[in-house]
Formats: sequence, C-alpha cells, structure tokens
Amino acid sequence: GLIIAVSGCVAQQQGKALLKRVPYLDLVFGPHNIHRLKELIGEVIERKAGVVATAQSEIIEENEYGQAQRPADGVKAFVSIMRGCNNFCAYCIVPYTRGREVSRRSADILEEVKVLAGSGVVEVTMLGQNVNSYDGGGLSFAGLIDMVARVDGIKRVRFVTSHPKDISRELIGMFGTEPKLCLHIHLPVQSGSDAVLKNMGRVYTREQYLEKVELIQGLYPDMSFTSDIIVGFPGESEEDFLQTMSLIERVRFDNLFSFMYSPRPNTRASTFGGQVPLEVKSKRLKLLQDAQSSISAARNAALVGRTMEVLVEGPSRADKDELAGRTPCNKTVNFPAPAGAGALAGSLVRLSITRALSNSLRGEYIERS
Ligand code: SF4
Repeated sequence: GLIIAVSGCVAQQQGKALLKRVPYLDLVFGPHNIHRLKELIGEVIERKAGVVATAQSEIIEENEYGQAQRPADGVKAFVSIMRGCNNFCAYCIVPYTRGREVSRRSADILEEVKVLAGSGVVEVTMLGQNVNSYDGGGLSFAGLIDMVARVDGIKRVRFVTSHPKDISRELIGMFGTEPKLCLHIHLPVQSGSDAVLKNMGRVYTREQYLEKVELIQGLYPDMSFTSDIIVGFPGESEEDFLQTMSLIERVRFDNLFSFMYSPRPNTRASTFGGQVPLEVKSKRLKLLQDAQSSISAARNAALVGRTMEVLVEGPSRADKDELAGRTPCNKTVNFPAPAGAGALAGSLVRLSITRALSNSLRGEYIERS
C-alpha cells in the first residue's frame, strides 16, 4: 500500500517524463499543486496508476495554504507569504517551475499567524523566494513584519530569503525598531566575482553587496549573516574563485550553504561555454567549506562569555535532561534544565554562553527574559 510521490521544482519540470523514468513512482506533483495532495493520493488509489499534477496558476487561491488548519508542531512555524520569482538568474529553474511572483493577501497571512499563535507557536519565519518583493496590495514587506509582530503570543519573527538587490532601507530600519525581528539575514551572494555575478544575472556587483552588508553591520554589530554560494559556475576562473574566498573572509558569515554548479535543463547557464571540470569544482568547494568552517568556529567562540536571549524549543536531542533553544542569530544552544524554573518550552530565557562547539553552543540558565 505504499505510495511514492515526488514533488518540487524538478518534479514540475520533468512531469510525465519522471513517471516514465521511475516506473515505481505513483505521483509527481509541482509546487502549485501541493495543496491538492490529499485529493491526488485519492486519485492514485482509485486509478491504480501513476498520477501527474503539474498545472500552474498565476493566482494564489487561499485554499493552497491550508496551514491555518494545521496543528502547531512545536513552538516555531514557517508561513509562506508569496510564491514564485521574477529574477531569472541564469542557473535557476524556479521562475519556470514556480511561476512569477504572487503575494498572498496580508489578511490571510495574519489569520494563519493568529491560528498558529493560538496553538502555541511563538516564532514565525516568513517564507518566499524573494520576500523583499512582497506586495500585499500596497503593504510592503516591512509593513507585513510589523503586522505579524503585533499578533498576541508571537515573540520572534524571521524571514527568508532576500535578494540582495531588493533589501530596502525600510526593512533595514525595522531591525532597529522591531525588537521581535531577529538579527539574522540570509542574503545569498552566490559569488564574490563581478564577472561571475554578471554571467549569473544577479544584477548587483560585489561592491554593492558588500556596501549593503557593511551598512547593516555598522548599524547592528550583532547581525548574523548567512548566504548561499555556487562554485564552478561556467567561466569561473581561479581568480574569480579567489574573489569569492576573499568575500567570505570580509563578511564573515555565520554559515554558508555552498554547492557545486550543476546545469539545470532549460536554463540559460546550461548552454554557456566554459563549463568547469568536476574535479576543479570539487576542489574549490572543499577550500570554501574549510575556510567557512574556521570562520563559523571563530564566530561561535566569540560568543563564549556573553549573555544571550534564547527561545527554548524543548528537550535537547542529545540529552533529554537538557533543553535546547536558539539565539536570535539562529544558533542552537543546549543547556542543563534548571531546577524549579517550570516548563520553559516556548519561553525566552537569558543564558550565559559557556562553550562553543562546531555546530552548537552550550549555555547556563540565568533567568526568564
Ligand atoms: Fe529567483 Fe533565487 Fe532562482 Fe534567482 S536564484 S531566479 S532570485 S529563486
């Protein structure tokens, strides 16, 4: 009775072909059809044959986001605020498989956040391919953050992802005026070389990216940056790669999601000359990841001795007698559960950071915030 389904951008792009290639697959559905999952499973059972659902729509129907009815899963939740992308970076299939940017109605987002808050969620992460382009009928993304932060019970707000060209001064200012907005920005840079950025179609230069980062770092010294980087994009020379290495040393990201370039069907970059050999890409990725590991470790070590506010998520995975929580910069902190402090899951507490490990921190409980 097992049903095997594949969803996502590649499923959208491959459609029927995927079903042919993987005969034991029962269901292939794209991002515009996620809300139909229950119905699609019914079709698979009824037809006893593979089902493909890749129809796309240029509007968002509110029933696509049935999360308002979902039970809360812990103290944090993701809330989609928009879908699609208008940017057409040369390597990316998202604009083809998820369509153009469409924003959800702010009233629907607000309703979903209220339902989540009512069931125990205290932190929401607003999701979109490019949240800075959110347009709620005249309401900007900063306006939406303001609205969500006012919902009773919500203690923290995050968002992901921002395109560097679109991060606005209004949004940058929000970090200073909205205490619930966590000091963390995921700002994908992709490369530190102007030539590569141009070929990627990212429409900003290295200096423009660094100017924004340094403006934000100047205003908020505790701001945490994370990013995405692709190594071995077609035409990337050794000098281009070294520009990326120097950029990560300059910004000092807390964490990087780094990948070797691989061509995606029907994208402009898949037709580019100058494809970089696999062994070169692999060597560059290792150099980048090793350098980032040292930077991440140094940034974690710099937090030892500081007092930080942590949102307690529940028991630690490694030790059930300990609790785990996250700092505003999204680092995990494990700490011994304090006697007599009561149930702390969902609370903001102050911890003294006592130790830095490679992927987490350790702390000691001081008090509830
Ligand atoms: Fe849009 Fe991001 Fe893809 Fe560029 S990489 S097209 S910004 S989703």
